[in-house]
Amino acid sequence: MLNLVLFGPPGAGKGTQAEFLIDTYQLMHLSTGDLLRGEIAAATPLGMEARAFMDKGELVPDTVVIGMIRSKLKTHPDARGFIFDGFPRTVEQARALDQLLEENKTPISAMLSLEVEHQELVNRLMGRGVVSGRADDQDPTIIENRIDVYGRKTAPLIGYYQAQGKHIGIDGMGSISEIAGRLKETVDRLLQA
Ligand code: ADP
Repeated sequence: MLNLVLFGPPGAGKGTQAEFLIDTYQLMHLSTGDLLRGEIAAATPLGMEARAFMDKGELVPDTVVIGMIRSKLKTHPDARGFIFDGFPRTVEQARALDQLLEENKTPISAMLSLEVEHQELVNRLMGRGVVSGRADDQDPTIIENRIDVYGRKTAPLIGYYQAQGKHIGIDGMGSISEIAGRLKETVDRLLQA
């Protein structure tokens, strides 16, 4: 089983590279951002609750996202492995994930942490906002808030996974295919180990 946490600030390219990794290694993609946007599109109570946080660039409460991940892990017991994208985002979420995976005896293999300069993040998010119409990608104040929230609440997870010997930094600057190449080299090395 290959369980990867694809990590990095908003705009680091997690979603794009997750697609590449799924195709290459036949893994299940679990993106809390996508799941939450699905709930909003279906106008569920969970979606309505989440939307208020997402529109401001704040994190959705831990209990909500942990519950979503728990039910998704249960519905895919036969997966060859998972790519966690946009989750965990807090130490509490990381602890909950470790516990859930412990129950299934399939721990996290590695955290692949995409490293991208601040201005490049803003440029990519603004560019995506034009194409996707995502409200949280169109407002510079909300974008800065998301990057700030990342620094305060999510970046500490680097230390969390370093302590487990699972953190791997990946240069996230450059073209999509260059970054994909770096990820592939890293994952191939993990598979050989
Ligand atoms: P990005 O990484 O570009 O910010 P995402 O699609 O991962 O995009 O997340 C969009 C928004 O969804 C976040 O700003 C946050 O409000 C919410 N969200 C997604 N995943 C989580 C999570 N694991 N915990 C809390 N909130 C989350």
